[in-house]
Amino acid sequence: MEDKEVLIALNVELNQIFNLRYRRPKNPHKYTWLCNICKKQVYYNENENCFKHRGLKPDDFEPETVEHKRMKEYWYNTFPLVNPIILRQMEYRFGDQIADVYFELRDGIKVAIECQNSPITKKKLINRTKKYAEKDIYVLWIFNGSGTCVSEEKNHLTWIKFEF
Ligand SMILES: [Zn+2]
Repeated sequence: MEDKEVLIALNVELNQIFNLRYRRPKNPHKYTWLCNICKKQVYYNENENCFKHRGLKPDDFEPETVEHKRMKEYWYNTFPLVNPIILRQMEYRFGDQIADVYFELRDGIKVAIECQNSPITKKKLINRTKKYAEKDIYVLWIFNGSGTCVSEEKNHLTWIKFEF
């Protein structure tokens, strides 16, 4: 697992080398970034202002698809239209988890939005929800409507009520 911070990365869509020493990227989540040294995909970390390799993401992290990006952007832009937010962030990291989108409301309520485009097991879903609950964060799971997200047959699906 590579732990090095990367300051120089290739922006694939723009076909440009980007150096964090000189500026911060605008909308970094919209682009694909490759490490300038090993050419593997890296991800911009807003908190530390550096790029990081995939290995630093939580275990169940998968490379981001266009659909997943769109889902995140939709909620990032739509949620504040109907909720009085004081903070919003993409890829909000806390502990070993990263919320796709994170909001803090004026009344102190914290909301994480998880956009799930790929299959997830009930067990993972429950574990991740519990971790949010432990930190007093409400989590809103958004599933891609194609019906394959929860990786168990539909007739085995149970609805689980979480107490906050
Ligand atoms: Zn590298």
